[in-house]
Formats: sequence, C-alpha cells, structure tokens
Amino acid sequence: MNTTVSRRSRRQQTKLWRVPVLRVARLTPHMTRVTVGGPDLADFAYAGTDQNVMLYFYPDDVELPEPLTLEAARGMWSQVRPLTRTYTVSRYDRDTCEIDFDFVLHDDAGPASDWAKRAEPGDLLIFVGPSPAYQPDPMADWHLLAGDETALPAIAAVLRELRSGVPAHVFVEVEDAAEEQPLVSDADVTITWLHRDGTDDLLARAVAAAELPQEGRVDAWLAGERAAMVALRAHLLNDRGYERSRVRPTTYWRRGETGN
Ligand SMILES: Cc1cc2nc3c(=O)[nH]c(=O)nc-3n(C[C@H](O)[C@H](O)[C@H](O)COP(=O)(O)OP(=O)(O)OC[C@H]3O[C@@H](n4cnc5c(N)ncnc54)[C@H](O)[C@@H]3O)c2cc1C
Repeated sequence: MNTTVSRRSRRQQTKLWRVPVLRVARLTPHMTRVTVGGPDLADFAYAGTDQNVMLYFYPDDVELPEPLTLEAARGMWSQVRPLTRTYTVSRYDRDTCEIDFDFVLHDDAGPASDWAKRAEPGDLLIFVGPSPAYQPDPMADWHLLAGDETALPAIAAVLRELRSGVPAHVFVEVEDAAEEQPLVSDADVTITWLHRDGTDDLLARAVAAAELPQEGRVDAWLAGERAAMVALRAHLLNDRGYERSRVRPTTYWRRGETGN
C-alpha cells in the first residue's frame, strides 16, 4: 500500500463548498476552464497531484438551506438529491483561493457539460471534496500515463509533480489537433497525441505499437472511457505482461450512460 496516500487520506477534510465562478476561459474548442474562488477556499485541503471533487447539480427551483453544509445537503436527500459528477482539481492556488476545473464540452447532454457550456462569472458551483486519487509511485523507474481529454487535467497535474528526468510516456486520445494542450513537466516526457478514429482501442493500439522501456519498474495510470480502458488494460497485462499491481485503470465515463 502507498503510505503517502494513506497519510494524505487521513488529513483530508471532505467538505461541501459553494463558491462563485470568477472566470471562464475556452482552452480548446471542446474544453473550457472554469475558475471558482472565494476566501472559504483557503481551507481547501488540497494535497497535490491528482485530486478530485464531486460536483452537485440541483434543479434550478430548489431552495437550498443556508449555510449549505454537507450535513444539510444529506439531510435533504429524501426530498431532493443532486445529480453528482466527478471532476479533477486542475489547479488549486491557496494564495488567491482559486480552483480551476477543466470541463470537456461533449455533444450528448449531461448536467456537468451543460453547466460548463453556460457558466458565467457569478454563477455558483457546489462541490464536495477534495478526494485524493492517483499518486505516482516515487520509486518507479518510468511512468506510463494514458487517457482521453477527460484525463488531461489529471495527467497535467501528475506531470507537473514527477521528479526531474524520470521517463514518462504519455498517450492522449483527443478529437483532433485543435484539442491538444501544452503539458509542462521536469520529467523526460514523450507525448503521443492520438486523433479519435471511432474505435474503442485507439489508445491500446498506439501503446502496443510504441517502443517502451523493457527494463525497470513501470507505474501505469490509465483513465478515460470504459471500453478504451478495458482494451488498454488487457494489452498491458496480457501482451506486455505488466504486473497487475503496476497498472491502475480508472473508468472516467461510459459511452451511452450518464454519471460516473
Ligand atoms: C475521478 C474522475 C475525474 C474526472 N475528471 C474530469 C475532468 O477534470 N474533466 C472532465 O471533463 N471530465 C472528468 N471526468 C469525467 C466526467 O466526470 C464524465 O465525463 C461525466 O460523465 C460528465 O458528466 P456530464 O453530466 O457532462 O454527462 P453525463 O450526464 O454523465 O452523460 C451524458 C452523456 O454524455 C456522454 N459523455 C459523458 N462524458 C463524455 C465525454 N467526455 N465525451 C463524450 N461523451 C461523454 C455519456 O456517455 C452520456 O451518453 C472525471 C471522472 C472521474 C471519475
């Protein structure tokens, strides 16, 4: 077990936050950054790397109690339960008390994507967290990070914190070249951008065709659409023979299904 994670987990304070949107910026045609902020966020227990929150979406006409705490929200569940969606903390700045969330603007209607499409300064965002997610293994000889654009905020956060010079092979599936984003790291990063071709195994095929280190201890983290994760995990375990404990896949969304 990763002791860094367990120590961090014990420190986490899961709390409900209701904070205003400060800015909205379009990063790419299908990705928008919503910056929320306010003095309350000085207490946000951000522990670095990959952290996520649960966004709460209530119907517009619901009267919410003041103050809206986690306990108060749960107390209302028999009358109204919010729709919940998980999002990565793309950036937290304790000095300015700001958080960036990067939303993929996808075609099928969903409360999170729709909210982000319409978000304006002054809108309120309700969320619960933070929850620690993937913490890269500091003892790994090299890293493999693979996912689609929903995983980009987490991949970017992980890359920012990898140790200098450690090899990191990154595969990201996006719609097209316009969706590619700059990624900053002190690690020795090799990035492969893949443009969607309508298949579920684009990531798996690209990783299969890549020249990856043959020696050393890998730490592989995968996140994205479920079928893509199944194909990629199968390749890493069955064809490349990586140890199960070295491959950490997460389903971020499922085609044709709502929620996560
Ligand atoms: C730990 C974690 C962290 C995540 N971090 C982020 C993040 O930082 N940014 C981010 O954008 N997403 C992130 N996701 C994924 C996001 O939570 C899902 O994509 C979610 O389903 C979006 O909710 P929605 O309300 O927009 O759509 P939903 O109501 O869930 O789905 C409506 C329809 O849209 C489809 N759909 C959902 N997501 C996508 C997509 N990305 N592309 C195409 N179709 C889609 C569904 O299959 C469904 O048919 C994360 C997920 C997890 C588990």
